[in-house]
Parts: sequence; C-alpha cells; structure tokens
Amino acid sequence: MNNVTNKTDNKIKMIVNGVVIDHILNNNLLKILQLLHWQNITDPVAVGFNLTSKRLGKKALIKMNNAKFTDEQKNIVALFAKGATYNIIAEGEVISKETLIPQNEAEYDIYCPNTRCVSRMYKSVFIPKIENDTVRAECKYCELHFSLDELREFRND
Ligand SMILES: [Zn+2]
Repeated sequence: MNNVTNKTDNKIKMIVNGVVIDHILNNNLLKILQLLHWQNITDPVAVGFNLTSKRLGKKALIKMNNAKFTDEQKNIVALFAKGATYNIIAEGEVISKETLIPQNEAEYDIYCPNTRCVSRMYKSVFIPKIENDTVRAECKYCELHFSLDELREFRND
C-alpha cells in the first residue's frame, strides 16, 4: 500500500476487486439497487448516501465486490445516474473510470408506465430525453415521456 491520503482513494480502497459507482443522486439510489436486483447479489456490497459532493450537494455511491457490469446494467445505472462514474477496481487500484451517459434506445428492465402501451407485456425500450439537466424517458412504442420516478422494474411473472 502506498501513502496516498486523497479521500476518494481511501474510500475506494475498501474493495480489492469489483466496481464502484460514484456520484449517484441520493434520490435515485434505491431505484438503481432495485434494477440491479440487489437481492440476488451474494458478494459484499457497501452503499453510502448523504455523502458530500461539490457537484451534486449530496451524493450516493455503491461499491460492489467481485462485480462487473453488463452493458445493460451500465445502461440502467446511466439512465438513473447520468454523469455517475463507473470505476473498475482491481487489486485495490482504479484501473478504469468511465462517466455513464444514458444510451439511446437501450432496452431496460422496466415497464412502460402507460397501461395501454403495446410494450406493456414486455420490457420497453426507452429513449432518454435530457432537458435542463433532468432526464426523462420516452417510450419508443407509445412515445410518451415519463419522469424517472414513474418507471417500475419489469417482472416476468
Ligand atoms: Zn409505452
């Protein structure tokens, strides 16, 4: 271990291998955990919120041991945490850092909130609409726009 005293580094050192998602808006933390199916994760996860952030005021972060995200998982986090950073940690060091940007026409594990939408029986495809730094999601099928709070996890049952 070296003698780095930078606060960010200290926080990240708690995990040896895995991912850290930083700069999440407090309010979106629970939604992101739901969409990542937190209940199925077996490795240790650390979650922080109300952490001080110059950019966001208060921020949240998620540290997941032995995790690596699929593109779909990254897309979900990006939709709910535009501008969050996705850091890959290996042997206690940050080996890659990526700013998450909502992808156009990604398929999310989310229902279209419109009960009359033709995609209702399936996962919908959403197109992020960024207006004044706020992300809204347009359903590709019914073309209605929704706030992120309105989106619900898709369950195949
Ligand atoms: Zn729809």
